[in-house]
Amino acid sequence: MKNFQYGKPASLEQAAAFLGPGDPNVFVMGGGTDLLGEIKEGLVEPAVVIDLKAVPGLAYIKKDKDGVAIGALTTIADLAEDPGIQKDYRVLHEAAAVVASPQLRNVGTVGGNLCQRPRCWYYRDARIVCNKKGGVKCYAEKGRNKYHAVFAGGLCWAVYPSDLAPALIALDAKAVILSAKGERTVPLAEFYMPPIVNVRKENVLNGQEIVKEVRVPQAKANEKSAYLKFIERGSWDFAVVSAAVKAVLSGTTIENIRIVCGGVAPVPWRMTKAEEALKGRKATEAAARQAAKSALKDASPLAENGYKIELLETIIARAVGSLGK
Ligand SMILES: Cc1cc2nc3c(=O)[nH]c(=O)nc-3n(C[C@H](O)[C@H](O)[C@H](O)COP(=O)(O)OP(=O)(O)OC[C@H]3O[C@@H](n4cnc5c(N)ncnc54)[C@H](O)[C@@H]3O)c2cc1C
Repeated sequence: MKNFQYGKPASLEQAAAFLGPGDPNVFVMGGGTDLLGEIKEGLVEPAVVIDLKAVPGLAYIKKDKDGVAIGALTTIADLAEDPGIQKDYRVLHEAAAVVASPQLRNVGTVGGNLCQRPRCWYYRDARIVCNKKGGVKCYAEKGRNKYHAVFAGGLCWAVYPSDLAPALIALDAKAVILSAKGERTVPLAEFYMPPIVNVRKENVLNGQEIVKEVRVPQAKANEKSAYLKFIERGSWDFAVVSAAVKAVLSGTTIENIRIVCGGVAPVPWRMTKAEEALKGRKATEAAARQAAKSALKDASPLAENGYKIELLETIIARAVGSLGK
């Protein structure tokens, strides 16, 4: 591991000023649960690490008439335990509660969770120069690909590992992004970029920007949501597949629904065909399984991950079915 300078900004504006020139060797850090691993593994070699935890007032969950604002430095544990989130945004509560382990949830932040890097074993091996690291090949495509994508691969088949991202996209959340030039707001549905747009990075941040806050719109009275995650190990694990669902219901009939899946694509993956098929149907497991089965015909599994299709069908069916109970 190479030495780096450690920056403790007194304000977010000062942190953004550090990033101002867009130096690729300057990194921001939340809890460091991902970034420090990347540094130790030799995947990144920052010259400067800007510790956002030094900035006061960035950890908050504030409710107002428009919904809820969640500061980027809010820990995953605080998000999971917040009574307002538990009451109004079940999908977000359930997603936060199953991120990693209690220790990691106590340290990991919302901003870091949304900006974390993929977990592909080829990407995480510093000796392998894949497309994501400036090489000319995705080693997973013809290699070991049990945990890789079944949608939107091609240049890179790594899956996006965040549990919060599918939940927040299902809730129509927006990211407030800060740079030395000011603020911009981006729907989280447009925050992630598939490899075909840019294989080297996963989101629209331009290297000079910091996620400051996430805004979730007010939940409607007849809205229900849920998050289901399939993991291989009982203790902690990244999602093999997951489904975040949010529906506006009339009784148990679906007026409209969002289904956003994790563990299946390089970006959180919306199942729009299944969403369409479920409009006007009862929120039952059977209806959701039928809709998911049909939508999953578009998947392109690799040699070792075809099992994800059936898992995803079941996870979606159970998540949607839980809304009708
Ligand atoms: C053993 C283990 C298990 C894990 N399991 C899960 C899991 O089940 N589900 C899951 O979702 N995640 C999991 N993670 C991933 C991750 O560590 C956590 O999700 C955590 O929330 C990341 O937050 P952090 O603040 O520690 O991020 P950091 O490590 O501080 O940052 C991660 C990345 O985001 C960037 N970044 C951080 N904050 C900001 C910001 N405000 N604006 C812009 N960029 C920013 C950093 O530069 C870095 O590239 C796991 C990690 C480990 C080590």
